[in-house]
Amino acid sequence: MSTSTEQQNIVGLSNRLKDTVSSSHKKVTGAIKKSTLTLAEWLIRAYEDVNSTFRFVWWKIIPAIVSFCIVFAVVAVWMPVTFAYEVKVDGKTVGYVSDAENFDVACKNVNDRLVEDTLSVNPYYSEKIVVSGEVDNLSSIYENLISTHNFAEACGLYVDGELALVCPNKQEFVDAVDIAIQAYYGYSKDDVVCANNIKFVEGLFDTNSSKYMKTPDISRISSVITICTTGVETVVEEVPFKTVKVNDSSKPQGYEYTSVSGVNGKNKATYKVYYQNGIEVKRELISSEVVSLPRDQKKVVGTKALTAGPNGTNGGNAKYFWPVARVSNSYVSAYWGDGRGHTAVDICAPAGTPIYAGEAGTVVEVTSQTTGYGKYIVIDHGDGYQTLYSHCSAMFVKVGQKVTRGQHIAAIGMTGRATGNHVHFEVRVGGVKVDPAPYLGLY
Ligand SMILES: [Zn+2]
Repeated sequence: MSTSTEQQNIVGLSNRLKDTVSSSHKKVTGAIKKSTLTLAEWLIRAYEDVNSTFRFVWWKIIPAIVSFCIVFAVVAVWMPVTFAYEVKVDGKTVGYVSDAENFDVACKNVNDRLVEDTLSVNPYYSEKIVVSGEVDNLSSIYENLISTHNFAEACGLYVDGELALVCPNKQEFVDAVDIAIQAYYGYSKDDVVCANNIKFVEGLFDTNSSKYMKTPDISRISSVITICTTGVETVVEEVPFKTVKVNDSSKPQGYEYTSVSGVNGKNKATYKVYYQNGIEVKRELISSEVVSLPRDQKKVVGTKALTAGPNGTNGGNAKYFWPVARVSNSYVSAYWGDGRGHTAVDICAPAGTPIYAGEAGTVVEVTSQTTGYGKYIVIDHGDGYQTLYSHCSAMFVKVGQKVTRGQHIAAIGMTGRATGNHVHFEVRVGGVKVDPAPYLGLY
């Protein structure tokens, strides 16, 4: 049963194959017949196709190429491109050069014009295609270099070989220097001479320099040049008197008395005066005429040695006991008056040297202060007489205490207003300060 079915299937398949092959054969035969018939037609059609392509090329492609060439030619004529070197300095493009040497030449030209400075650049070149117009010529590189480095053509004023000031215009500068010099004619001196060697140099200068002035400044010019002038001046001068000292052995050491006061003399002197920028620097005496002669000052100087010991009282004739222990380095350092209204006699001695009461009496004041007298004692001797002892370093009496003549009452010091160790010894009569010197047997 199954075998019969399979056989039927094989027969069916065979028949279908036959049909298919037959059908294909018929189709191919039909096609060959058709192409054989239209060959002439095809040639005409092909000619027409070629003609159409040719016309397309002729009318579309060629005009397009020609147009492009014309445009390119026009562009090329108007904007020709070329090879050039891009020059970079410190990473910045400073220009395009056709030849690297051009840049070096421009740098050299800048350096040739620079007076004080030196241009030192480290260029980096790279090849580029650029529009011809962008290529820099020597002068434009030169201009770029000087403007980027703040250099400009100017005139330098050299004073004694040193650049002093810079100004853009030489003639203006020269005129301004003349004005600065002429200003000293106002001092009305015989001659006006510039003491400096002045020179003007033109070239490239740094416009950022502190010496650069946009316009000439007369006062700045005056400050850098030295103008010497001279003049004659007549003056009446004081001729100082001399001091003649006369020793007097009857007076104690430290005693000085002006017996004849000095008077200055007068001279009429004529000088040649030298000025620099109006300031006097030197004068030479041309002539001198005596108007009046000076009178010498005469001073009597005591030479009598002061002897040590608490009981010595200048020969015993003094009213008061000598108030300071007679140590060898003790002396009278200031008298009454003393050119400054001094109201006592100052006796110097080392700190701690005993101070003695000038006369018996009662202590009426014991004061300790930091100003004026410092530590001081006042003793009342009766009959209106009082003595004062000041600048003490120590005081050994109390108010109301009775003291004897020559009693050790205090020690030398420099308390209060004092510049050295001493006692400022005052004598008061009826409350009025008097010169203590006669009371101490000084004169
Ligand atoms: Zn004094």
